[in-house]
Amino acid sequence: MSENGLIMQYFEWELPNDGQLWNKIKADAPHLKQIGVTSVWLPPAYKAISQDDVGYAIYDLYDLGEFDQKGTVRTKYGTKEEYIAAIDALHEHGIGAYADVVLNHKAGADETERFMAYEVNPENRQEKLSEPYEIEAWTKFTFPGRKGKHSDFQWNWTHFTGTDFNVEDEKKAIYMIKGVNKGWSDDETVDNEFGNFDYLMFADIDYENPEVVEEIKRWANWYVDEAKLDGFRLDAVKHINYHFIKELVTDIREKGRPEFFAVGEYWRHDYDSLQQYLEATDYTFDLFDVSLHYHFHEASVAGSDYDLRKICEDTLIAKIPTHAVTFVDNHDSQPGQSLESYVERWFKPLAYSFILLRLEGFPCLFYGDYYGISGENPIEGMASRLDKILYLRANHAYGDQHDYFDDPNCIGWTRMGNEEHPYGLAVIMSNGDDNKKKMYVGEQYAGETFADYSGNREEKIVIDEEGCGEFLVKGGTVSVWVKDGVTPEEAFHPLEEA
Ligand code: CA
Repeated sequence: MSENGLIMQYFEWELPNDGQLWNKIKADAPHLKQIGVTSVWLPPAYKAISQDDVGYAIYDLYDLGEFDQKGTVRTKYGTKEEYIAAIDALHEHGIGAYADVVLNHKAGADETERFMAYEVNPENRQEKLSEPYEIEAWTKFTFPGRKGKHSDFQWNWTHFTGTDFNVEDEKKAIYMIKGVNKGWSDDETVDNEFGNFDYLMFADIDYENPEVVEEIKRWANWYVDEAKLDGFRLDAVKHINYHFIKELVTDIREKGRPEFFAVGEYWRHDYDSLQQYLEATDYTFDLFDVSLHYHFHEASVAGSDYDLRKICEDTLIAKIPTHAVTFVDNHDSQPGQSLESYVERWFKPLAYSFILLRLEGFPCLFYGDYYGISGENPIEGMASRLDKILYLRANHAYGDQHDYFDDPNCIGWTRMGNEEHPYGLAVIMSNGDDNKKKMYVGEQYAGETFADYSGNREEKIVIDEEGCGEFLVKGGTVSVWVKDGVTPEEAFHPLEEA
């Protein structure tokens, strides 16, 4: 049986610090199963610098809400016990759990240390602005609240490449740590913005140090077993030596988990950068299709000025679909966040139809789009609207695909269905006026009628002798046509037992 896969990113940036997210996921697991979610991307579960941190200012990778550290046992999302219970509930409903893995940096050290460092030019990090001199910085991690449980590894300045604050004179700068085999990761192994983009924030982890490599590999295997994880979402990989990321994922799979899933966040608009990264890492894991996200954003802002025929030009989904995790928005692109590029509301159903109803790509549904965004400027979720598209993905978006990308303001495609899901669909979307398009759905439907399951059009379309229909769409919307009256039971034909 092959159902369509679907990831749900189960968090947004503005969630309240109430320690309830893990409990909410546990309670929501049956519903997630119902709407066709096959795996959940959980936010970073580790102890960060403070309880209300979203999770990316990592303090202790071994503290999943278990120890009294940074003034709290639980994290923003709950305790370790609740985290494990949420994952167990997902598994009980056949849903996988993907952890958000933040390996670029560490924050909130327990003690300062003194060592030699250079100040570098923030615009060109290979350019030293000073002779080496001694600084005092927060680089010693002893985890006194954990007392060596799970790992007795303690971090010191030799495990980092750089930091951003000298305690002695309270100067903020980018400091490159001086030492044997020190310096940023080689230029070709990280993103090349600012000369060398190894350094992002806090104390930058040094993956040229073999002690670090061994410890993080050990941690990753411990974590996957401890939380029974099915995959990783790898944060900020453009700032981490790609050799290490590839080695890490390979190591996890070689230790008896050949199916372990991994997707990297390599935040670049241009397809070429994504392609080069996939090639450099030998296609070991997938990447988020950032190019496609920016196309959605542009299209949503430009309205009818956008040429919909180009929506997937130079994107991962078009060129390397087997390694594309497609998404509409996420916790970083939502309003007010670091990579803000929010897809406007009118376009969301079009964008979701694109990622959910096409053959290519592994789509990711964003919590903020489904349940809404909280905080000072809340945005209402679109669950009831998206449920229709999710239903269509789960029951009808199967089989061969015929594209009709022939009008700058109106595109469409059809899916033929397959043996298990015999009733396909016809999608038509417009960013301009009301429109129509003749598309092929199959001779078997000659003389039969199709209805718009998205609920935007009331008409019924009669299929002609050649198996084509003239499908309709209202301006600025998407319609999805299926044989009239097909019920979920009919849409799904389980194969006979052999
Ligand atoms: Ca780095």
